[in-house]
Amino acid sequence: MRITATTVSFKINEKKRKKLGLETLKPWDTEAQPEDVKPLNPFSTSDELLDKTLSCFRELNPFFADCIQKMKEMGHLDLESRKGKAPGGYNCPLAESGAPFIFMNAAGQMHDVTTMVHEGGHAVHSFLAHHLELSAFKEYPMEIAEVASMAMELFSMDHWKAFFDNEGDLQRAKEHQLERVITIFPWIATIDKFQHWVYEHPNHSIEERTENWLRILEEFTSKEIDFSGLEEYRKISWQRQLHLFEVPFYYIEYGIAQLGAIGMWRQYKNDPKKAIDNYMYALSLGGTKTLPELYAAAGLKFDFSPGHIKTLMEFVRTEMDKLTEA
Ligand SMILES: [Zn+2]
Repeated sequence: MRITATTVSFKINEKKRKKLGLETLKPWDTEAQPEDVKPLNPFSTSDELLDKTLSCFRELNPFFADCIQKMKEMGHLDLESRKGKAPGGYNCPLAESGAPFIFMNAAGQMHDVTTMVHEGGHAVHSFLAHHLELSAFKEYPMEIAEVASMAMELFSMDHWKAFFDNEGDLQRAKEHQLERVITIFPWIATIDKFQHWVYEHPNHSIEERTENWLRILEEFTSKEIDFSGLEEYRKISWQRQLHLFEVPFYYIEYGIAQLGAIGMWRQYKNDPKKAIDNYMYALSLGGTKTLPELYAAAGLKFDFSPGHIKTLMEFVRTEMDKLTEA
C-alpha cells in the first residue's frame, strides 16, 4: 500500500502544483483550482440530482434505477440541504419494506453526486438482501457494505455524462474521483499504524505520542506538500480523525473496502455484465456468508498482500493516465 499509493499521490500533487503555477504546494492547495476555473456544477435542484442519477443508473443497470425510483415513489429520499436540517448523508435500511431511506444535504456540488451514487450503492444492497428470511441476515460487515457503495461510485463514472454537458467538466470530475480513490490510502495507513502504536504503548507521554505521530505521518505523506510554518498544527493533526476517539481500530475497513471496490471496477472494465452480475450476487447474500466468502462471490480476491495491492493501484493509475491523455 505504502510504496505505490504514496508514489502515485506524489505525482498527483506534483501535477497540481504545476497547474496552479506555484513554487510550493501548501496543504490547502491540494483541493484548489486555478483562478479561471469554475467549480463543477453538475445539477442545481434536488429534483435534477434525482433525475440525472436515475438516468445514470438506468444506463448502468435498469435494476439500480428501479430501486431509486421506488424510493422516490415511497417518499424515501430527502436530498437537498435546507435551513435547520441536520448535516450528513446516509442510507438507512428499513427491514419491513426493504426500501431504504436516503438522507443527504445536496447543494449543487460534485461532492453531492458522489454521495448520491455512493448512498445509491448502499440502497441497492438493501434491496438485494431484502429477500433473506431473517433481519439479522440483512446485516453485513462494513468491509462488504462499503464495496457496494464505493464500487457504485466507480461503476457509475462511465455514465456521468448525465451530469455534464461538456467533455472538459466530465473529465475533471472523473479525474478528481480517481485522485480521491488513490490519496485515501496513505491516510488510512497513517491512521491505522498510529492507532496500533498508541495501543501498544499504553503508558506513553504526550511528547512520545507527538514524536511517533510525526514519524508515522512523515512515512506516508506526499513529499510534494510543503508544511513549513505549520509544525505546531501538524503535531496534533491526528485529532481530526474522529475514529481514533470513538471507534478504536475501525478505519482500516475503508481501505479493505476501497480495494474491493477497485477490484470490482477492474472486473467492470474487462466485462461489465459479468462484473455487475458478480456484484449483485454477492450483495444478495447479505450477511449470510463470511467476509472472504462474500468477496469470493463477488469474484474478488480477499488478499491484502503488497503484490495484490500494487496490481490494483497500478490499474487505477493506468485508468487515470488514460483519462488525462484523452
Ligand atoms: Zn458508505
